[in-house]
Amino acid sequence: MKIGIPKALMYYTYYPLWKHFFEQLGYETVVSGNTSKIILNNGVMNCVDDACLPVKLFHGHVMDLLDKADAVFIPRLTSINPGEFICPKFIGLPEMIKSSIKGLPDVLVLDHNAYRNIKNAYKAFVDIGKKLTGSTSMAVQSLKLARMSQKKYETILKQGETPLDIFETGEGHEINNVKGIIGLVGHPYLLYDQYVSMRIIAKLRNMGYRVMVPENIENTLIQEVCNRLPKKLFWSYGKKLLGSGLVMLENNMVDGLIFLSSFACGIDSFILELLHRYNQRRYRVPCTLITVDEHTGHAGFNTRLEAFIDMIEWRKAYDNNLSTYGTSVSGG
Ligand code: SF4
Repeated sequence: MKIGIPKALMYYTYYPLWKHFFEQLGYETVVSGNTSKIILNNGVMNCVDDACLPVKLFHGHVMDLLDKADAVFIPRLTSINPGEFICPKFIGLPEMIKSSIKGLPDVLVLDHNAYRNIKNAYKAFVDIGKKLTGSTSMAVQSLKLARMSQKKYETILKQGETPLDIFETGEGHEINNVKGIIGLVGHPYLLYDQYVSMRIIAKLRNMGYRVMVPENIENTLIQEVCNRLPKKLFWSYGKKLLGSGLVMLENNMVDGLIFLSSFACGIDSFILELLHRYNQRRYRVPCTLITVDEHTGHAGFNTRLEAFIDMIEWRKAYDNNLSTYGTSVSGG
């Protein structure tokens, strides 16, 4: 049996874990294709209108697997860290897919809920493994090996690689004459999806900039800056984006910061605003927000990116790092 893994949402976070788990159980895995206009259009046409772009895309990727896989894997991520939740859209994903897409093969749902205890999330893997093979010990052993692959992947990311450098091996990221480092803050399913991110990482590298992404930042540092915030952030991805952005700013790690967001994302609407306000009050690093949706095109996107990079370079060259604008409205 071939198990299909949609190349969307948390694929860029957990692919090594999922792939190795199923393969250790003795199953072949197949991944949906890279996002394309067809996949995006299929997603848009087969999803409820008010979903965010990444959820629509997930629908398109499931459709891409219909004739490639005997079963489709759909994780229900309720909580990925103890004491925290993840966006509610992930919780209803299996039901959304089942009600919107006709002709689905078997659906393998993983109930990943680490809210009370991370062991509960691992137990969900063992349950699936046992269901597929009838053997608890095989499921436990497969999970153990899959977790080792996942750990290795996360270690490489912490050394400065992006998931694209690991998964899309043809990309290459050598830069001659590095001009600086740009922090890119956004959900993994936006930053590393080459279609919706308009290849932003490759474009920045072609302009002579290294990129720093949330996956490069140690979780302990993220936790440390978030502990200093007036309120606890209980949404894992909100915390990761705000925390990694603050670590980059506080430690002077980047020459500029780009927030990449998708239209209709509830979490981004306040997390990125918070990051922007902290930046204006304390760090005053050049930053910009780029929001993508299903209508975003390369021309407008490139203009925003080039204008931002020009602004950083002109500021360095002529402004002596003092803003010509003066005190910002939100800076107080
Ligand atoms: S966090 Fe935002 S982009 Fe991600 S699934 Fe939720 S609403 Fe969509």
